[in-house]
Amino acid sequence: MTNAAPAIILVRGDITEQRVDAIVNAANSSLLGGGGVDGAIHRKGGPEILAECRALRASRYGKGLATGQAVATTAGRLDAAHVIHTVGPVHSTSEDRSELLASCYRESLRVAAGLGARTVAFPAISTGIYGWPIDDGARIAIRTVRETAADPVVEVRFVLFDEPAYQTFEAVLSAMP
Ligand code: ADP
Repeated sequence: MTNAAPAIILVRGDITEQRVDAIVNAANSSLLGGGGVDGAIHRKGGPEILAECRALRASRYGKGLATGQAVATTAGRLDAAHVIHTVGPVHSTSEDRSELLASCYRESLRVAAGLGARTVAFPAISTGIYGWPIDDGARIAIRTVRETAADPVVEVRFVLFDEPAYQTFEAVLSAMP
């Protein structure tokens, strides 16, 4: 299983500028837009993405998308075929929500594979507005991708917005056997 896991690449930059088959959005359960990555994706991708999100809310996801789940829409004007929206958990010091964060990566890869995507870009889910410490977020992200066979996904690109996040992902990746 693990030998079919995608290769991991780290990039410092803006996820909306990536040219990949699928871009993962750190969405919220409303699917109707927000700040951070979500705001940037809707701004740059244009109204088509929001229109599909609204249609999802009007059909399968009347109550919104649950934490840890993922769903795809068009990527609008982004240089990608799909946006995969996933809802990360808000970080909590009283409750361990790591499994929900791992689920975001796993479910997004499952959706990407179902779409036939070969290359997928992820942000560091939950590490912005949702407050997850970057080092733990990086460990969960990298470990989960390494444990998930997602044929035909061959490349997972983590797109880190700032230098500290990039450095943290690099340190975590190089510390793993
Ligand atoms: P969440 O609500 O899941 O915490 P955010 O969008 O607030 O999601 O942040 C997730 C991570 O993405 C943070 O580390 C943040 O710095 C980073 N980020 C924000 N904008 C972008 C962008 N345009 N491209 C890549 N990463 C981004």
